[in-house]
Order: sequence, then structure tokens, then C-alpha cells
Amino acid sequence: ALGRYLVTGGAGYVGSHTVLALRDRGDEVVVLDDMSKGHHAAIPAGVRLVEGRCEDRQALARAFAGGRFDAVLHFAALSLVGDSMRDPLRYMAENLGTLAAVADAAVKHGCLRLVMSSTAALFGFPERIPIDEQQRLGPVSPYGESKLMCERALDWAEKIHGLRFASLRYFNAAGADPEGRAGEDHEPETHLLPLAIDAALGKRPPLMVFGTDYPTPDGTGVRDYVHVTDLADAHLRVLPLLEERSVRYNLGNGTGYSVREVIDMVQKVGGRPVPHTLGPRREGDPAVLVASSARLRQDTGWSPRFPDLESIVRTAWDWRVAHPEGYGDRRAAA
Ligand code: UDP
Repeated sequence: ALGRYLVTGGAGYVGSHTVLALRDRGDEVVVLDDMSKGHHAAIPAGVRLVEGRCEDRQALARAFAGGRFDAVLHFAALSLVGDSMRDPLRYMAENLGTLAAVADAAVKHGCLRLVMSSTAALFGFPERIPIDEQQRLGPVSPYGESKLMCERALDWAEKIHGLRFASLRYFNAAGADPEGRAGEDHEPETHLLPLAIDAALGKRPPLMVFGTDYPTPDGTGVRDYVHVTDLADAHLRVLPLLEERSVRYNLGNGTGYSVREVIDMVQKVGGRPVPHTLGPRREGDPAVLVASSARLRQDTGWSPRFPDLESIVRTAWDWRVAHPEGYGDRRAAA
């Protein structure tokens, strides 16, 4: 199915891998990205980049000029829990503001299909593991709250404008394009796997393990790492559902791995030790976050191609070794 899609945040980590998935099946893609976090080199040939912010009416007008989109995929957002605890109002204003501006422009241009990146942080400290869609929503950070507000805004856009949406609540996105065309390059980097890999490569200081006294088998936090290419695939698979209804899905592997297990796997894949120190818990971190994606699997046939930690770590390792400076386009002293 050849389609035409607007991808906001398409130069970022999950966005760029989704752009690749769309291009691989022959779709036309326009990326709207302010390049505050994104990378030019993450955008494949043949994809038009509109450089600008989602709240910028002129940038939106440029993005929407040139033909009707089948859907908008909205990745552009602030996404760091820790930052949101320091700057709550910025997170609320920016994440809701960008979503509202993009959805409004979509409606005005006659595009009534939207897929939005959401998060496991909607669930705060969950009551049960695995976390399915029935669980109580109760974010414990402004970041989680901002995405909950976005989901609620979309409910109203559906009621009033007929905008159909999919909200995909990602667990821990990790890994890199298996063909090596894109990878993970954040500045600052806060995520476990890239920090562990860079520690092993001697490119960053030793990793600090945040908490060793959790009620988990080895005392370290457990997360559901899901390969970024599998995340991208889920976006393509929910698109046809939007012809019928709006959907919300929890999106993870369904398997939890501890910080210790991630460190051990990086050592195995990379063949060298991961220097690390043991530290206190990071505030706001639950012991265990594992998704049930049963509903997504049932409704779309989605199933991860890279469910095992080894292939997730291997693709991330290979990309980092091939790109020791990442995309190499980030100005020093950001
Ligand atoms: N973590 C850690 N050291 C770090 C970064 C992360 O021990 O420098 C742990 C963190 O406490 C959590 C897991 O690694 O248990 C994944 O954290 P990350 O920040 O990658 O993702 P999050 O689960 O916060 O979205």
C-alpha cells in the first residue's frame, strides 16, 4: 500500500526508524523536525525535511503543502522523566502544545488519522505485572502526565472532529536498525543500553547502576526492552485499524530484563567488561515495568522480530562501533 505520511520528530530515534520502515515499503514521507535532538543523517534519501517546530504555523503550512497525508505520525516530544521533574510546566506545555498544534493542522487539512508516541510512564507505579491496557492510569512524573493529557486531548478531537488516533505506549525502546542505517544518538544520553555500551568502549565514564535493593531477583531494576525496529513495525500495523476506530496499545516485548542482565549481555556481545559502580535508586523509578502487548498482537498480528536481549544489544553495539561519534553532527557543548 503506497501512502503518504507526515512524521513529526522523524529525525529522532524512534521516528527515524519508523521513517525507514515506511520508505522500505514504498511510502512517501515528509519529516517535520526542529532538529533540536534529531540528526540530518538519520533521514534517508528521498524524504523531504521541513525544518521547524510543530507549533510554528508556517512550518506546519509548509509540511502540509504538497498533497494530502494518509496519516500523521507524531513522535516529536520531550521525553526525559528526570528533566520533567525539574521543569514540569515546560513538559506539560510543550508536549500538549505540539500534539494539539499538529492534530489541529491535520484536521484542517482533512487528514483524520494520527499515531502518537505515548509511554509506560502513564502507569506510574503499576499495580500488576505485566501491564495491560486495563490498568489504572496514574503517572508519577510530569512527562507521564503530559502524555496522558495528550491522549485525553485526542479523545476530544475524535468526538468533535472525527480524528481517529492510535496511542502507542512504548516501554524501553532499544537497539538499532539491523541494516545499520540508523541508531540511537541522544545528547545528553540517559538510557541504560547506550551508556553501558559507551562505558565498555571507554567513551564514557563507568555506568552507575541505579539501585541494587529492588525486590527483583538480582536487586536491580527490571525493564521491558523492545527493539526499535519492532516498535516501528507496530506503527505500520496500527494504521489500517484507524479506518475503524481509535486504539491505545501497550507496546513492549513482554519480557523483563534487569540492569545486571543488560550489563552482562553487553559484556558478552562486546567481548569486554562494562565498567560500572553501584549507586542509589533514581527517584521515581519503579522496580519492574513489563508490558502485556497481547491486545496489540491479537488485533494486528504484531510480534517482535528481535525479542531477545542479545539481538537488541548486538544491533546497538554494531551501530555504535560503526559510528563512534554517533551521527557526528551534534555541536560540542550543547
Ligand atoms: N539505569 C541505570 N543507570 C543508568 C541509566 C539507567 O541503572 O545510568 C537503569 C534505570 O534505573 C532503569 C533501567 O536502567 O532501571 C532503564 O533506564 P532508562 O533510563 O534507560 O529507561 P527508563 O526505564 O527510565 O525509561
